[in-house]
Amino acid sequence: EAPPGDQAIQQAVDQAYAKFKGVMEGENASYIPYLAKADPKLFGIAVVTADGRVFKAGDAGQEFPVESIAKVFTLARVLKDQGPDAVMAKIGVNATGQPFNSVLAIELNNDKLTGSPPAGNPLVNAGAIAAASLVPGADLNARWKTVLDTASAFAGRTLALNQDVYQSEMAGNQHNQAIALLLQSYDHLYGDPAVTVDLYTRECSYNVSAVDLATMGATLANGGTNPVSHKAVVDPATSARVLAVMATAGLYNTSGEWLFKVGLPGKSGVGGGILAVAPGKLAIGIYSSRLDAAGNSVRGQLAAQSIAEALGLNLFAAG
Ligand code: GLU
Repeated sequence: EAPPGDQAIQQAVDQAYAKFKGVMEGENASYIPYLAKADPKLFGIAVVTADGRVFKAGDAGQEFPVESIAKVFTLARVLKDQGPDAVMAKIGVNATGQPFNSVLAIELNNDKLTGSPPAGNPLVNAGAIAAASLVPGADLNARWKTVLDTASAFAGRTLALNQDVYQSEMAGNQHNQAIALLLQSYDHLYGDPAVTVDLYTRECSYNVSAVDLATMGATLANGGTNPVSHKAVVDPATSARVLAVMATAGLYNTSGEWLFKVGLPGKSGVGGGILAVAPGKLAIGIYSSRLDAAGNSVRGQLAAQSIAEALGLNLFAAG
């Protein structure tokens, strides 16, 4: 099936922007002071196709903290290095059905009881912290370079840490420290807890724009090769597995509702970013800071659904 044409894509993007620009429902993330201050009027949409065409509306170049969406690219790196069997055994790939930072999910998934690893999957905090503990490197800085270099290769430009967000999160990440220690108690953390949580917190704190997100997603849509820079970041099998986990667990405890409505793998972050990927075709990146109760951008979800419908992207539709 041919990818959608330029005019159809720009029209779908412009329509979604116009339709949802006025929606002011939801709240900024309140538990990270830096995110609470974000300007809720900002609204940016970008689409990048698997053949490298770029489409934008609104504040598509506005940078914001990637937060949970970083989990996707660290997963890609760990999958590439460790292979799928290790990821299944060490982290897990099942939906938890619980909020993103749930400690209860760790207890419920205790593999001594259920056979599934306690971290749940690499797109919730516990699994992302387990994934961060598997990132190679001699020390924290080397491992951070691995994470940021991987994300930058997906984006096709050098991404950078937002120091204010990093400091803001480090000052209040006791909950994530507790998750790391709990995983360690179940022998499912693979590095030092303090170093791992620091790495995980840096990972949440690099800045991206909607265009970056769409380019990162288009790399997955294109089987792991960035369609703008033409560099291979991961192989097609790794890329497909990353998308499968996104479909299962990309939107926290409302991942089922997302897949039901949009029909595409996606990932959200509490910074207000949202990414949706149509394999073989394109990716949609959106920024709007106000979140629903689960932590997903309100306008981001509406716009992604609208674009997916306009372009007929639902993976489960027969055509
Ligand atoms: N840094 C955030 C946390 O770990 C990321 C949460 C998210 O975007 O889901 O609490």
